Amino acid sequence: MPELPEVETIVRDLAPLLAGRTLHQPQLHKTDVLRGVSRRRLLRTLDGNRVDQLTRRAKHLVFLLGSGHRMVIQLRMTGSLVVHRRPLRAAERRYAVLEVGLGGADRLVFRDVRRLGTIHLLDERAWRAYTDRIGGEPLDADFDLARFRAALEGTTQAIKKVLMDQRRLAGVGNIYANEALFLAGVDPSRPANRLDADATARLLDAVRAVLHGAIGARGTTVRDYRTGTGQPGGYQFALHVYDRAGEPCVRCGTRLATTHAIDGRQTTFCWRCQGGPPAPGRGTADA
Ligand SMILES: [Zn+2]
Repeated sequence: MPELPEVETIVRDLAPLLAGRTLHQPQLHKTDVLRGVSRRRLLRTLDGNRVDQLTRRAKHLVFLLGSGHRMVIQLRMTGSLVVHRRPLRAAERRYAVLEVGLGGADRLVFRDVRRLGTIHLLDERAWRAYTDRIGGEPLDADFDLARFRAALEGTTQAIKKVLMDQRRLAGVGNIYANEALFLAGVDPSRPANRLDADATARLLDAVRAVLHGAIGARGTTVRDYRTGTGQPGGYQFALHVYDRAGEPCVRCGTRLATTHAIDGRQTTFCWRCQGGPPAPGRGTADA
């Protein structure tokens, strides 16, 4: 599932192609992606409307329209969003959910093989409620250590689960939670409220470093993710722990352990570098 760096990459690719463009002849091929908006209202709102801005909030793409509405797309597992500057091939149209003309041959296409993605259409008030439910953006200039500490406060849940909780912190999912915890040398299962000041500061630095690194590499493609130009990302070659179960730790050579004990998600870590209990056999590589 695309996390902050993948969605940011798509936004940076597509924003220059979309800003100021007028939308023509929107076509919706599947309605099960719609949330709180009818097909008719979506198509009527898009047709002839203008894209003022394409931005990101957490893992969501936000189209600010000339009418003041926001169309919010969540790509989830298998969604992709690409601007095609030529007529679509049959294979490209095959899983198209939404197609919108941009003038000339240019078309914006939201494809989703499994259709786990969603489309919201929000007015100003609905947008406020939507964005207020999401935590702070870790790459914002005003997101400081005090705000990070506040996001981790008052819960005994595992720090990894808390990092991925979108109500507390925006945009971090399983890949970057694993990577940041490794970089910071923090045990993923440690209760969030038991992190000391040093570890908290190291973790915020690590979260920022992995997110910036992944944006620089145009995201991580393990399976389905594609950039806004339809290419795979490059950060999969820079991963330290995610998707490396059973391989040696890049720092100390210990075999990386994997557990599904935290929220059912795959957690891969080095018990030597991250200070978990060094029980042999803990978290065998059962990825
Ligand atoms: Zn290690």
